[in-house]
Amino acid sequence: MQVKCNQCGAELKIKPNEIFFTCTYCGSSLYLDSSKVIFHYYLSSKIIKEDLKLILSAFLKRRNLKKRIKIEKKEIFYFPFWLLKGKKEETSLKLAAPTAIDEIEKVVIPPAGKLNFFDPENKDIKDKKIVVPSIAYEAIKKNMEKEIKKGDFSQAMLLHLPFFLCQYRYAGEKGRFTVLIDAVGGKVFANSFPHVSLEKIESEFFWAVGIICMIFFMEGLMVKNLLTKAFVYFISAFPLYLLLRYFLSKKG
Ligand SMILES: [Zn+2]
Repeated sequence: MQVKCNQCGAELKIKPNEIFFTCTYCGSSLYLDSSKVIFHYYLSSKIIKEDLKLILSAFLKRRNLKKRIKIEKKEIFYFPFWLLKGKKEETSLKLAAPTAIDEIEKVVIPPAGKLNFFDPENKDIKDKKIVVPSIAYEAIKKNMEKEIKKGDFSQAMLLHLPFFLCQYRYAGEKGRFTVLIDAVGGKVFANSFPHVSLEKIESEFFWAVGIICMIFFMEGLMVKNLLTKAFVYFISAFPLYLLLRYFLSKKG
């Protein structure tokens, strides 16, 4: 099969099942889409496995999930995106393959110039799992072009970005939870979370309300003088108010 290099125009012979290839004349990394030859880049990871627990804990803490976690699986892989750039650095980034956590489309990529040509022999990529594109550029071309203002864009490219697939356990919860962590910027993507134990907080809340009612009832029985009664109610209301605030903040 014969294709033409995007960069130098050389005619290249590729095997029918070869989709990622390098121009033997100019060294460009290329990908054969359903319709044409496209430049192929990747970003190397900046985050190491040892950082993942800290990143994930911080992410969960922001969701009020503060219990112990145990990461049971951490595996790096490269996921494909279509990238279209405008002349003024506007970009459109779309998934080039389906995924269960499709929020990764919102991943932030660094400015141009940081992209590396995809080289399967490079140590960053070699032996790593590479997801092959299965959504053709032609299929989403129109949507992507709309996102670039004035229709002023350069050629689309294929970009493989590194992610960590992490599976973790959360103290007190059954089963494992999955997140994808962007291995360049450290952003965490998830579509399910452990539950904050609401039932427990709710029962504590009802107990607190019950006790408060009892306290006021007793005070009402014990203090006969109306003015003293008002005073006693007033000074006991303040700590009880704080107690309720505490429960509500725990709940929120
Ligand atoms: Zn070339």
